[in-house]
Amino acid sequence: MLCLTLTGNTLEKNTEYIELYHTMSDLCELRIDLLEQMNLQDIIAFSQQAQLPLILTCRRERDGGAYRRTDRTRTGQLNRLLREGTWAYVDLEEDFRRGELEQIARERNIRIIRSFHDMQRVPADLFSRIERIAAKGEIPKAAVTALNIRDALTLFSAEQQLAHIEKKIILAMGDYGVPRRILYRRTGSLLTYASPPGTSAAPGHLDIESMKHIYRSDQVNSQTNIYGIIGNPVLHTASPRIHNPAFHKVGINAIYVPFLVDDVRTFFTFADRLSVKGFSVTVPHKQQVLPYLGRITREVKQIGSCNTVVWEREYWKGINTDYYGFLRPILNLLDGERIKRAAVIGAGGAARAVVWALRNHQCSVVILNRTPQRAEELARQTGSSWAALDDTASISQVDLIVQTTSVGMAPDTDADPLPGYTFRGDEVVYELIYTPEMTAFMKRAKLSGCSLVPGKQMLLGQGIMQFETFTGLNYPFTEDTVVF
Ligand code: NAP
Repeated sequence: MLCLTLTGNTLEKNTEYIELYHTMSDLCELRIDLLEQMNLQDIIAFSQQAQLPLILTCRRERDGGAYRRTDRTRTGQLNRLLREGTWAYVDLEEDFRRGELEQIARERNIRIIRSFHDMQRVPADLFSRIERIAAKGEIPKAAVTALNIRDALTLFSAEQQLAHIEKKIILAMGDYGVPRRILYRRTGSLLTYASPPGTSAAPGHLDIESMKHIYRSDQVNSQTNIYGIIGNPVLHTASPRIHNPAFHKVGINAIYVPFLVDDVRTFFTFADRLSVKGFSVTVPHKQQVLPYLGRITREVKQIGSCNTVVWEREYWKGINTDYYGFLRPILNLLDGERIKRAAVIGAGGAARAVVWALRNHQCSVVILNRTPQRAEELARQTGSSWAALDDTASISQVDLIVQTTSVGMAPDTDADPLPGYTFRGDEVVYELIYTPEMTAFMKRAKLSGCSLVPGKQMLLGQGIMQFETFTGLNYPFTEDTVVF
């Protein structure tokens, strides 16, 4: 079940959230600790009128909530709400056993979710606590904190050890817990919580629209093929919006999830455990995945980095779709020899794919970089020439300028990587940055009449090739119809 956590600080706001999101949710959690006024009569009326089943929760500050009054006051308030309101579940903490509340819940057919929280770690006695709660006929809920990918792996193992407990909720707070929230049906959790867009009830909460419409996490089942992206950071990535709607459009049962990864080796164990079928790789893991791959393509070997890994029966195969994504928008120009000489600004990871792609298409390249040694090194490896970043005379004759540095990326959108260069107007300018879509560098090039290739085209191009590698199917959207 997808549970919308009502994060409003008034009942009016929460009514609005239900109106807006009830079609995306199976039930709602009313967090009365978040309300600015604890008017019990109004809360009772709210519960009786809600369009969806409700969980009643009053979370204490020490468990990550906002309730500051005494346990006695809380017991009194919950007592009245349980007796007079309409609730499907009540969430009571493991160390808060009050016979009177449990009795009312039993009499009124309100299921008890017995929760415990650890805001610091995954506790060592996690499994035994869950067992103990389940043995009492209550629904155990563990909300613990995953500090790294190893913690996330430990929690995924929980399903095997606790498979006999049919109704349980095991959540990991924080960014390492995001895949668990999305894949809750694969991990045997009764439900997952999501917030109204623009709010967040707990660290790592996703919004209900993404859960329902991007990830379709309520559709995941034992047959769903799991794909994803690893990186650090990774949650900002647009890739889930490239892949998930496309899986749905072509009608295959698959999901694409962001995995925050601090240790690549552990992720490969994690991927085996979850039967991950393939994944994208972003900074800083593009080189770190190489030792774990059974086969790599010529481009991965040349570039020395891999952005796509796919399971091929007995081993992981690595490819580099940045290479092809970059080439796609300019292939005709290269093949038609409209582009014969190029300047590449930058000598980082993306520049390596760009320079090799150009060199493999017989284009001469000059590399300009802030750190000249890196330009020199890449030039040596690829048979290119190089120059200092301010040596703009060295690129006066080029047909193509590829901007591969991070200069001009949001939030520093006024920055220009090549302020000393005056555009002629007949160069093609290819910008790799895609946030913002129009950088200061591109604006200046456009004013001079240059034709532009925005970073979004490469991003989409590499994503399309990943999709085709993962599924063997054509990507179902065009540049005009994709939304990400
Ligand atoms: P990277 O390996 O960290 O390389 C960064 C490059 O930017 C290096 O050449 C670095 O020069 C240069 N640089 C950074 N700060 C600078 C500054 N203040 N002044 C001058 N040069 C500076 O990063 P990357 O993976 O290559 O990514 C670079 C950019 O490409 C990012 O914006 C990324 O989002 C974008 N990208 C886009 C796509 C796409 O599909 N459109 C794909 C991959 C990457 P030094 O060597 O001197 O440090």
